[in-house]
Amino acid sequence: MGATYVILGAGHAGTAAAAAMRSAGFAGRIVLVGDDPHLPYERPALSKGALLEGVDTVPVIYPTEFYSAQGIELKLGSPVVALDRTARSVTLANGEVLAYDKLLIATGASARRYPLLDALGDRVHVVRTLDDAKALRSELQAGRRLLIVGGGVIGLEVAATAVQLGLSVTVLERAPRLLARGTPQGLADILLDAHAAHGVSIEVSVELSEARVEDGVVALTARDGRRFAGDLIVYGIGVTLNDALASAAGLACDDGIVVDALGCTSDPAIFAAGDIARQHHGFLDAEVRHETWANALHQGAAAGRAMVTGEPTAEDVPWFWTDQFGINYQVAGRIEADRWIVRDGPVAGRCMHFGLTGGVLTGAVGVDAGADMRVARKLIAARAMPDPDALADPQQALRKINSMPSPA
Ligand code: FAD
Ligand code: NDP
Repeated sequence: MGATYVILGAGHAGTAAAAAMRSAGFAGRIVLVGDDPHLPYERPALSKGALLEGVDTVPVIYPTEFYSAQGIELKLGSPVVALDRTARSVTLANGEVLAYDKLLIATGASARRYPLLDALGDRVHVVRTLDDAKALRSELQAGRRLLIVGGGVIGLEVAATAVQLGLSVTVLERAPRLLARGTPQGLADILLDAHAAHGVSIEVSVELSEARVEDGVVALTARDGRRFAGDLIVYGIGVTLNDALASAAGLACDDGIVVDALGCTSDPAIFAAGDIARQHHGFLDAEVRHETWANALHQGAAAGRAMVTGEPTAEDVPWFWTDQFGINYQVAGRIEADRWIVRDGPVAGRCMHFGLTGGVLTGAVGVDAGADMRVARKLIAARAMPDPDALADPQQALRKINSMPSPA
């Protein structure tokens, strides 16, 4: 009998790992276990196309035939309820016990719950799963008033979609600015303007103290006395990690399962990747946990390969995108910099911002500038020191700008 590799969590990281194990030459048994009953799907579509055009438009990550052709056993709608490191086995909710030689934990995260709002019942929605998006989609009817709690990426993407569908939308953010944690100020300002231009009302520094339904209307009250009325609520206030199995099994956890350069946890037979994993990132020079699609794919594939070969994969410059009002916004690298240089785009509304730290390109923001952002990511990875005047000049093609590699 060959070895068995079990993957917990059939999201982006889990599926990328399964595919990478096979392409790295693993010939044993691969079992991909997920609690979601649907064939693994593209989660980013849930707050965008799924709400605008319907959940049927959400792409699957791989078609069914891929799994059969690659010999990847899928166990969907199967929550894993126990992990026994001594026996090297996991137990599914239906009682089935799966023995593993190596295990990958890619259980990701769930929407952080807000009990104050959950108490209002079915007028309140979160967006994490296909079923969440399906339930919300049918409620997004023109003319309704939508209150969004949390001005993070979910809140803003849902706001943009809902105004396009004819709802009136108010976003309530607890912090004094939008997207305070993961986004450069320049992009947060651009998004704030875009939302204002489309009629989204944005209220910051809102800490809710009361929520109730009065005469069929949802009524929210903030600590400072501001009151907001609506027909339904969507909230996106961050995530809770699905790390209960890992911590109960005694794996080292620190806001995420701690992994080394291979993606290996404190147990040599267990790896972790995706939203759930915390790993040292050389470019950021810190132990980090990313909640992005690109990281889940890269780290998932890297862990899957490492489980087969024992070799690390070169790290990627961190990046993510968000689509709002039909415009693609991307962020790469560090969000803090000594100075930001703005390059106007060829048409109004398009632009790039470049973050320089000690002359080195450390971050970039692109507004409808996908091709240039690919170049920017390469320059960031190369620790390039481009001429700032050339960066600011839209007549100079980014890929032709002379840049010295940083001496560091
Ligand atoms: P997940 O996608 O969370 O997958 C983990 C899977 O494991 C889940 O299906 C979970 O249910 C399952 N699981 C958990 N516990 C168990 C258990 N005990 N047993 C079995 N299965 C279990 N990122 C971007 O960069 N750009 C975007 O535009 C973007 N849009 C997004 C839109 C939405 C609505 C959301 C929610 C996220 C978005 N993201 C985006 C973030 C990106 O989708 C995540 O970073 C990515 O999905 C993480 O992948 P993962 O595989 O680590 O975890
Ligand atoms: P985020 O962490 O992006 O944003 C949550 C926001 O809600 C923060 O601004 C937070 O402020 C605020 N908040 C927290 N608590 C409250 C509260 N009680 N009242 C009002 N505001 C509050 O999480 P999301 O929920 O937007 O997204 C969830 C996950 O989905 C993340 O992993 C995210 O990366 C992912 N995602 C990514 C997308 C993308 O990259 N395009 C798109 C959609 C989702 P504070 O900082 O003060 O806590």
